[in-house]
Amino acid sequence: MKFQITQLSMDLEYTDESVLRAVRGRLIVAEPMILSCTVVRRSIDARRIKRPVCFTLTVDVEMAEAFGTNLPASWKKMRDIKIIPDSAPSGLVAIQTGASSAVLPYRPVVVGAGPAGLLAAWRLAQAGLQPILIERGVSTEQRHSSVKKFWSQGVLNEDDNVLFGEGGAGLYSDGKLTTQSKLRAEMRTVLELLVQCGADESILIDAEPHLGSDRLGQIVPNLRQRIIAAGGDVRFGAKLEGLETDGGQLTGVIVNGEQIETRNCILATGHSARDVYHMLHRDGVTLAPKPFAVGVRVEMPQPQIDKSQFGQMAGHERLGAANFRLTRKPQGRHRACYSFCMCPGGMVIACASSPGMLTTNGMSLSHRSSGYGNAAFLVPVEPGDFGGAVGDPLAGIAWQGKIEAKAFEAGGGDFTVPGCALDDFLARRDPRALSENREPLRAVAADIHAVLPNYITQTLRNAIGPMMRQMQDVDPKQCTVYAAETRSSSPLRILRDESFQSPSVRGLYPVGEGAGYAGGIVTSAIDGLRAAESLCE
Ligand SMILES: Cc1cc2nc3c(=O)[nH]c(=O)nc-3n(C[C@H](O)[C@H](O)[C@H](O)COP(=O)(O)OP(=O)(O)OC[C@H]3O[C@@H](n4cnc5c(N)ncnc54)[C@H](O)[C@@H]3O)c2cc1C
Repeated sequence: MKFQITQLSMDLEYTDESVLRAVRGRLIVAEPMILSCTVVRRSIDARRIKRPVCFTLTVDVEMAEAFGTNLPASWKKMRDIKIIPDSAPSGLVAIQTGASSAVLPYRPVVVGAGPAGLLAAWRLAQAGLQPILIERGVSTEQRHSSVKKFWSQGVLNEDDNVLFGEGGAGLYSDGKLTTQSKLRAEMRTVLELLVQCGADESILIDAEPHLGSDRLGQIVPNLRQRIIAAGGDVRFGAKLEGLETDGGQLTGVIVNGEQIETRNCILATGHSARDVYHMLHRDGVTLAPKPFAVGVRVEMPQPQIDKSQFGQMAGHERLGAANFRLTRKPQGRHRACYSFCMCPGGMVIACASSPGMLTTNGMSLSHRSSGYGNAAFLVPVEPGDFGGAVGDPLAGIAWQGKIEAKAFEAGGGDFTVPGCALDDFLARRDPRALSENREPLRAVAADIHAVLPNYITQTLRNAIGPMMRQMQDVDPKQCTVYAAETRSSSPLRILRDESFQSPSVRGLYPVGEGAGYAGGIVTSAIDGLRAAESLCE
């Protein structure tokens, strides 16, 4: 018989033995009755209401046969103990194999090797459908040189950059794997696949799993090798330029000027591929505008964040660098504001995929030890804010582009990021020279109010001060704010039905962040996986 115990509080020094003792205490059974205890989930409890920061564990417990199969009466009242049915799934979701290329007369094409495209290609390859995965950028191993050139000299390669290339926008990222997805089996498949490709097993149990950009750089090539080994074909420097259709059915894709005949294409091009949106609009694929959010990225000293979140336990090696999430509801005529994509112990980075436009984001390495944490502070915007014709699906990207062009200009026109001290921003003072006390990002003091629309900066000024006061130990004078954070999610949707196909082009499966149905590494990966499963069906 197997049980699961939830809400088991353990101090930061817990060991296998102390977990076993705590389980015995909770169940009130003799030790020989317990065959094994396995921690299956671990979260940090930083509320510090009655005790210092601790871990909250979920533990699977296997009992000896002698224990019997009946639940003791006293346990039935305990809401934090439940029986695990023998049928509960464990391990990778069973992959259907045996389908062969004979099932599909043409090989399916997957466009984009970000999280969504990689998982879709992996799934199709597992099913024996020999997908062709095309990616406009270069391989993970080759990406670093142009990214380094961009960050150090401001030289942009439009197809090989922080956002484009194998691994997609997720490669130079914080690599946090948190998601609000309720699709547990798919989530488990993604995490287990990452472990098989080299990720640490702790991602399977941590409530806030994290990889870091350095680990992702090792994992993604392993995933590519699995796709190839299962019959997939991976082509770099291969850009989708157009679709071919006949009577509403996809018949081919144009890649680098040449046609690849296919009836099925999983489109996973992310939300930075604005040329793809224009191409789809031109080719009659139905698109619709959607809300998104814009704002700034704020960098803060990580030890101050740790102190405010973990109190006396700050710096404990088992806790690592602390995270935070802050929200402020709409106040008076000001909109809501929320923190997003917090990167503990990371760095603010410059991102661009087209000339003359600059946006910020955050990344980290696996150790999260930079000494600074950063997070976006975002204000939601609606299609009515974008200007342009009512219902124009491309108005959002044009509006984003205007802000990014202003950020580029404010930074001096060479992809240097405009920034200022947070207290200057909040007080609307002229920016002073940037402090040395920050991550070595190529940045210049600038007026951020010139970059974002007035109602956005007003909302941010109104909200960030009170939000930061919730973190008592963070000193706004020691924080730097950078502009502008524009690409937190897609400003439009590529419409699709329950089979994941575009209603206007059958055989076209828009997925991931660019399709507007996912945001973040894991949800995009799950979306790609599910679309591939739908295609297999
Ligand atoms: C700096 C940064 C940090 C982030 N940190 C996190 C984080 O910590 N956790 C998290 O969950 N999310 C994070 N995100 C968001 C996350 O990276 C994205 O949600 C995710 O990568 C989206 O996956 P995707 O596969 O849908 O698209 P993308 O990752 O954008 O991949 C799209 C791919 O398609 C390719 N492509 C585009 N156009 C074409 C074309 N015409 N032909 C061929 N190929 C094309 C691109 O080169 C790219 O490789 C971060 C994003 C950034 C930029």
